[in-house]
Amino acid sequence: MTAATNGQIIVVTGASRGIGATIATELARRGYAVGCLSRSGERPALPAGEDGLASRLLPVRCDVTDEESVRTALAAVADTKLRVRGLVNNAGVQLTGPSDRFATKDFEKVMTMNATAVFVVAREALPYLEAGGGGLIVNIGSFFEKLGVKGNAAYCASKAAVGAITRCLAVEWASRGIRVLDVAPGVILTDLTREHLGPDSGVRKYLDKRIPVGAPSPPEPIARLVAALFCEDIPFLTGETITCDGGQSIAH
Ligand code: NDP
Repeated sequence: MTAATNGQIIVVTGASRGIGATIATELARRGYAVGCLSRSGERPALPAGEDGLASRLLPVRCDVTDEESVRTALAAVADTKLRVRGLVNNAGVQLTGPSDRFATKDFEKVMTMNATAVFVVAREALPYLEAGGGGLIVNIGSFFEKLGVKGNAAYCASKAAVGAITRCLAVEWASRGIRVLDVAPGVILTDLTREHLGPDSGVRKYLDKRIPVGAPSPPEPIARLVAALFCEDIPFLTGETITCDGGQSIAH
């Protein structure tokens, strides 16, 4: 870690691409070092002209569904000797299909990644956060957590679990100086969804009408929301799910 930081490091899971990479980059912009955990261990691709942020981004290989891998990755982050200030539990998977034919192993894969791993990484990060004098955990849920979506029983259940885990850890760990929040994005244009949601696709035309603000969002606003939660001093805010979906889930 060479570039000057504010002396604090935040762990982001699933930070090699998509929303996690954008969150990691935004946190680095604001002076934090970021432990970027992913299976590939790749550093997020930086926007043109921002190569200088690279030295604040520490890529660490980690499979969040493997507890030993999580422990090794968190130890590598702590080895920087920076204060471990927070965790963003972002890595997630969405497997879809008709429920009458949805395999148990696929249901369990989604729950393991989106719910169990969120709990495990938070539990394993707790001692480091406490050693640093307290901190913030932001879990990335989804606006699907409160919806009924065809073909998405596993994903919706897993994201509802994220909200529940957030509330339980928030009340359990508040006295230990740890706050826990759930940021629940709406439809986000990432590399994976950009093609499917291209401007001429039928789904995109439907969504542009369905989302009150007029279109799906790029990941940057989600990243700014997460970064703001770290940068602003709001000690009374914990346990909540903050939905950021352009009004889609509240529109009738
Ligand atoms: P992507 O599929 O684009 O990226 C997933 C990231 O997680 C990658 O960095 C991937 O890297 C990493 N990853 C995958 N499996 C593991 C694993 N076992 N251990 C560690 N890292 C892993 O996802 P998105 O950016 O689209 O989504 C991020 C989060 O946001 C998810 O929780 C998702 O449910 C949520 N969300 C997304 C929405 C969207 O519209 N995109 C909407 C609402 C919520 P690698 O392959 O190298 O491991």
